[in-house]
Amino acid sequence: MNYYTYVDRENCISCAACGAAAPNLFKYDVKDIAYACLDNNNGNAPIPFDEIENLNDAFEGCPTESIKISKIPFDDKEEW
Ligand code: SF4
Repeated sequence: MNYYTYVDRENCISCAACGAAAPNLFKYDVKDIAYACLDNNNGNAPIPFDEIENLNDAFEGCPTESIKISKIPFDDKEEW
């Protein structure tokens, strides 16, 4: 089963927890706001199987619930 993710960047507080938990999935822009780096935060790239555990760690560790996960691709829901 595939999983997809993106960051609700409106609510990200730049705490850097997601990048620590899943450095291959989450990176930061010049303002230190997180984004899902596999697909420029579109939420349409399937997460590699060996990154699922890190994704869950990032999801559970985000203090603002900004990390969204779905079993179906997200549409291009964010412009930035
Ligand atoms: Fe932003 Fe959440 Fe990542 Fe912290 S863990 S940088 S609040 S998305």
